[in-house]
Amino acid sequence: MEDIYDLIILGGGPASMSAGIYAMQTKQKTLLIEKEAFGGQITTTSSVSNYLGFEKISGRELAQKMHEHLVSTGIEIAYEEVVKTELESTIKKVHTHNNCYKAYAVIIGIGTQVRRLGVDNENKYLGHGLSYSSLNDRDKFEGKTVAVVGGGNSAIEDAIYLSEKAQKVYLIHRRMEFRGDSKLVEELYSIVNTGKIELCLEYKPKAIVGEVVTQFEITHIPTDQTRTLDVDGIFVAIGRGANTDIIDEKIVRDASGYIVTNEKMETNMPGVYCVGDIRNTPLRQIVTATSDGAIAAITALSYVKNIKLEENKK
Ligand code: NAP
Repeated sequence: MEDIYDLIILGGGPASMSAGIYAMQTKQKTLLIEKEAFGGQITTTSSVSNYLGFEKISGRELAQKMHEHLVSTGIEIAYEEVVKTELESTIKKVHTHNNCYKAYAVIIGIGTQVRRLGVDNENKYLGHGLSYSSLNDRDKFEGKTVAVVGGGNSAIEDAIYLSEKAQKVYLIHRRMEFRGDSKLVEELYSIVNTGKIELCLEYKPKAIVGEVVTQFEITHIPTDQTRTLDVDGIFVAIGRGANTDIIDEKIVRDASGYIVTNEKMETNMPGVYCVGDIRNTPLRQIVTATSDGAIAAITALSYVKNIKLEENKK
C-alpha cells in the first residue's frame, strides 16, 4: 500500500514546530520537511524579550529549545529542499530534489525571505562588506564604521547591537518616523545622544562604491542631494517578503504576496493550511506563529479524519 502521511508540515520555524508538536500529540502520522536549520527568522534575532516564560533569551537558544521539544515527540523529519507542491487533489504531493512525499493535509510554514537593497552589483558585495545578518557578521566590524538600512525593529535592533562593537553606526531610514516599537526607539535615541549612532533620516540607498564596500552613497529624498558615507560595512534590514515560489499558484495570496487564511488557518484549498510569517497575519511574532501552528494542526486533524471516513465508505 502507498505510504501516505496524514500531514506534511513545510518549514522548521516556530509556527511549523508548534504544528508538529500538536500533530504528534494528536497522533497524526506526520512528516516535517526543513531544508536548513530550525528556528526560522528567530535565529537571526539577537534577543527575544516578549515571549511568555522567557524574560530575555537569545533567538538561537529559544530556537534550540523549541527544536529539542519537537524532536522529543518522535516526529519524522526530512532535511530536504521542497522544489514543487501539488496540493489540489485529495492526496497532496510535495516534491523535493530526490523524493515525492504524499499526504492528506499540508501545513505551509516556510516563512519569508529577506528583501534586497536593490542597488547595482549587490551580489558582488555580499560577504565583502554587505550583510543581511548582524548576528552572524557583527564581529568582523569591531572598531569599524558601518551603515544599517531600515526603520523597523530589525534595523533598530541591528544598529543597537552593532554599536556595541563598531566605532560608529549610521542608521539610514527613508522616513522621519521609525516603524519599530517605542521601547526600542527610546533605546536607540539614548545611543544617538552619545554620538555612537548617527541617524540619516529621509535618505534612500543609491550606490555602493569600491572593490569591497568602502563608501555608501545615499540620496536625501526631499532635496535629491547625494551624501557619501565612508563605511566598512553595510547591513540591510528592510524587511522580508513571502516565500511562496514553490506554492501552488491556485492558493490565494493577498496584494503583498502573503497567503490568505481564515481564523482556522485554512487556505482556499481544502486540506491546505498556512501558518506564521508567510500568512496574511496582522502580527508577525513568535507567539502568533506558535498559535497559528497549534490551530492548523488541530484543524487538519478533523479534516483528515473526515477524509479517511469518506474513503472507508467507498
Ligand atoms: P519591517 O517592520 O517590515 O520594516 C522594514 C523597514 O524597512 C521599514 O522601516 C521600511 O520603511 C524599510 N524599507 C522597506 N523597503 C525598503 C526599501 N526598499 N528601501 C529602504 N527602506 C525600506 O521589517 P523588520 O524590521 O524586519 O520586522 C519584520 C517583523 O518582525 C515585524 O513585525 C517586526 O515587529 C518583527 N520583529 C520583531 C522583533 C522583536 O520584537 N524583537 C525584532 C525584529 C523583527 P517604512 O517604515 O517607510 O515602510
